[in-house]
Amino acid sequence: MYSTELIERLIKLLAPDGFTPRTESDVAYPARSLPPEAKVMRVPPSPTGLVHIGTVYAAMLNERIAHQSGGVFILRIEDTDKKREVEGATDQIVAAFTRFALPFDEGPGTNAPYGPYFQSQRGKTYLGYAVELLQSGRAYPCFATAEDLQAATQDQQAKKQRPGYYGDWALWRNKTEAEITAALDAGLPFVLRFKSHGDHQKRITYTDVFKGKMEVPENDLDVPLIKSDEYRLPTYHLAHIVDDFLMRVSMVFRSDEWLPSTALHIELAQALNITPFTYGHFAPISIIDQNGGGKRKLSKRKDPQADVQFWIKAGYPVEGIKAYLLGLANSNFEDWYRANPGKLLNDFPLSLEKLAASRAPLLDMAKMEDYCKDYIALLPQERFIAELRDWATLEAPYLVEALDKDPQYSAQVLAVERDGDKPRKDLSKWSDAPEQYGYFFDDLFGPHFATRITDELKDFEPGVIAAACSEFLQSYDVNDDQDTWFTKLKATADKTGFATDNKAFKASPESYKGNVADFARIIRVKLTGKNRTPDLWTIMKVMGTDRVKARLTT
Ligand code: GLU
Repeated sequence: MYSTELIERLIKLLAPDGFTPRTESDVAYPARSLPPEAKVMRVPPSPTGLVHIGTVYAAMLNERIAHQSGGVFILRIEDTDKKREVEGATDQIVAAFTRFALPFDEGPGTNAPYGPYFQSQRGKTYLGYAVELLQSGRAYPCFATAEDLQAATQDQQAKKQRPGYYGDWALWRNKTEAEITAALDAGLPFVLRFKSHGDHQKRITYTDVFKGKMEVPENDLDVPLIKSDEYRLPTYHLAHIVDDFLMRVSMVFRSDEWLPSTALHIELAQALNITPFTYGHFAPISIIDQNGGGKRKLSKRKDPQADVQFWIKAGYPVEGIKAYLLGLANSNFEDWYRANPGKLLNDFPLSLEKLAASRAPLLDMAKMEDYCKDYIALLPQERFIAELRDWATLEAPYLVEALDKDPQYSAQVLAVERDGDKPRKDLSKWSDAPEQYGYFFDDLFGPHFATRITDELKDFEPGVIAAACSEFLQSYDVNDDQDTWFTKLKATADKTGFATDNKAFKASPESYKGNVADFARIIRVKLTGKNRTPDLWTIMKVMGTDRVKARLTT
């Protein structure tokens, strides 16, 4: 133990502006008055760049568990790393939580009683706990420079020793008071380190919510608790213990990357007389590498899907994404979803046991898009239009402009094959809309679709295309019912040398210009620039005679 004098000197240096004694904090953040089953859950992202889809996934699980149990959901901003902080990142986190309908009860802007919810604003609180550890002999100053640490690491490598700052490798752990005083006199910067009592040869056990019983070596690392820069902010280790204790968090769900630190966190909590938390470590969302690299973690660098902006810009409907993510978390979700078409996602009872069984969620974009297609297909028409317009207003204003030119026509266009038992499913995201609806609008047809016609119809001679179109137009009547329309189409196909009898066509294809399907393809492509569209008769009815004529005669 250091002398009181040295401890006081260290406290002054650590907390020149003072600190909140732990006794005060413990009172300021009392136990919550919640029923025993109510869970207090939190998601603590760091504002260091893009918002990761994994944060949305974690937030969704925590939000559900909290609110399903009548508990509290906290968004905490872990902004202690001032060097890595990115301007505007917190706003983006909050915007993503709003966008993905993840209502936090406590967090930025909520003015709730367990705040502040920015770690950078809680500096004095952490210092109170750091001071307690210093006074109880469980923390000490370390003046090791980056070079000192590097040299120790190299030495460890050479001697084939386990890396890290522990035991005899903990350079400042056993320094005398005189040595520390000399370093302080010299004005050297220092971090405050934890003094571990652990023994790496011994093992501890704890129960992980997701992984079950864990047996791991005790911690013996003397990790930094308070950083050396002028902010004197804590490292994640101390901040996690203090915040999750004071905010009265029920369970700490965090990514697997923290698994190796759990023994340390248990020891640190015990050193502060805090009951260790219940932990649940989950595997991050992974993906199959497109370049044959197998299954791997979603990477900010390689995968655009890692960034929530990708999902927002593309216009994937939030409900579709969330439904898919719920399916990743609970294997019984899909059956429930199919069996309960009218229900809200929040009606699904998320189960911790099922979550535990879902070991490594794998992002399958095709499956995710299926959820989104179903969601869009079943949207009531008014919401369909409203959500499409919301997206297009931000990402494709030209589409809004086209829609607004003739609202009545646009309403008909957007209604094509949306009702009935089998609504169209060609939109998995709103950014598919320009492709699936754009050709209806002359301003968009010209630049985007008409240019594809030649390519799509390259198998036919221009004379054949022209003849097919003009012959078709001669008998076309917008008022014909679908059967009459088709009878006429067949008759015109026959007239222009296309086979109406498939057997005959197969027997001698060279005697024909194509079959009826080819004939219809010519008409379809000339009208839409596309090979695949909803029913052609319906499209033509919506387009109206003038437009049909104009497109078939150019
Ligand atoms: N800020 C930490 C991170 O982003 C939070 C980890 C946790 O959930 O405790 O990794």
